[in-house]
Amino acid sequence: MDFAWEYDVVVAGGGVAGVAAALQAARAGLRTALVEKMVLCGGLATAGLINIYLQLCDGHGHQVIYGIAEEMMRLSLRYGPGEIPAAWRGDGLARDGVRYRTAFMPAALALALDEALEDAGVTLWLDTLVCLPIREGIRVAGVMVENKSGRGTLRASCVVDATGDADVAYRAGAPCVDEGNWLSLWALQAAAGHAPDTQQPLGRIPGVGMVLLGADSNGKRMPPDMEKLHGTDAEQVTRYVLESRRLLRAYYREQYASGAFDRETLYPLTLPTMAQFRTTRRIVGRETVRDGAANLHQPTSIGLAPDWRRGEDVWEIPYGALLPQSVAGLLVAGRCISSERDVWEVTRVIPPAALTGQVAGLAAALAIQRGTTPDQLAAEDVQRALAAEGLPCHLRDVLAA
Ligand SMILES: Cc1cc2nc3c(=O)[nH]c(=O)nc-3n(C[C@H](O)[C@H](O)[C@H](O)COP(=O)(O)OP(=O)(O)OC[C@H]3O[C@@H](n4cnc5c(N)ncnc54)[C@H](O)[C@@H]3O)c2cc1C
Repeated sequence: MDFAWEYDVVVAGGGVAGVAAALQAARAGLRTALVEKMVLCGGLATAGLINIYLQLCDGHGHQVIYGIAEEMMRLSLRYGPGEIPAAWRGDGLARDGVRYRTAFMPAALALALDEALEDAGVTLWLDTLVCLPIREGIRVAGVMVENKSGRGTLRASCVVDATGDADVAYRAGAPCVDEGNWLSLWALQAAAGHAPDTQQPLGRIPGVGMVLLGADSNGKRMPPDMEKLHGTDAEQVTRYVLESRRLLRAYYREQYASGAFDRETLYPLTLPTMAQFRTTRRIVGRETVRDGAANLHQPTSIGLAPDWRRGEDVWEIPYGALLPQSVAGLLVAGRCISSERDVWEVTRVIPPAALTGQVAGLAAALAIQRGTTPDQLAAEDVQRALAAEGLPCHLRDVLAA
């Protein structure tokens, strides 16, 4: 090995979930490393150009997600355009029906995340690939990594898998499900006036907007003759990225041929530097967020996920959805927690991903403090620690507020 380091907590993957986990653990005073294979944090929300910070509320005026997920929404606006809706800025306007969400500029979020991580004292390992878990029996005791310095080990009392694809849990032998993904592409473009298909304009910035092509999350507008591809298969990842860029070239050719635009008035500004898979691999955890459990009380719940599609349902997320089976010392956070197919559409988006990241960081700290592993903690103890941070675990907590 070329290098070896020891930490209290190692977080694999620096998307919104990994950043939230690392912030929470470092702020609790733990020596925390965050390992990211790219050179910026934020994952799909920055490198992936996903620029809609979906709602922190239930659609009936109740905020249901608090903590670092809310802090991160505000961070997304620190160095760029976008607005928190007036009703959610504390000016007394009616909130019922007004969603607490915003659009933001991905690069602005990446800048602000650097700052928050530095302020919290997180050790960042950028351009560093997590290759394998270090196993001691069933316990994950760290990760093996590879970067420009060579191969090394980062050992830790607790590891958080926030890779988006449950890479660490899967390679440690935990059961997972793996599904294919419809083809789509989100990119940032320059457009003189109003470009067609610029469906998510960043509002007040003249001439800049998002272009969304291909399938939506239900597979609608999936290009004909294109099969679903897997984000955990290297050949299919390459094909996915190349096919999505083919869509974008076809779009520009069509726009130029129509005569409405030319290459001076409509062109790509930034392409995603991360494959935009919505659906990949997630764990089958010790507990699972169930499709039919909307608005139902879950005794072991550690937080809430509002349905961004319909606006009336909220799920309680059981603590065991962050715990892989048959592995110890490992928590999973973000879009790869254990959820059934339909509700996974709800738990995978930015606010619940950041929330489960924060919970993973908190549970790691609690386990270390008690000299145990996260899977040995009682959910009530995690809930008590969350309550002490002002984070609601149950729907009744927010409806009563
Ligand atoms: C097309 C599309 C549209 C979407 N639209 C929205 C939307 O409008 N609003 C919304 O809220 N959500 C949306 N989402 C979902 C949302 O963006 C993501 O699910 C969420 O950001 C996931 O965060 P995460 O931290 O769990 O994972 P990711 O963002 O995937 O982060 C994982 C991180 O881990 C790193 N990583 C992975 N493997 C390794 C490794 N082996 N070693 C080191 N680092 C590693 C990756 O580089 C990445 O930075 C959309 C997603 C897609 C694909």
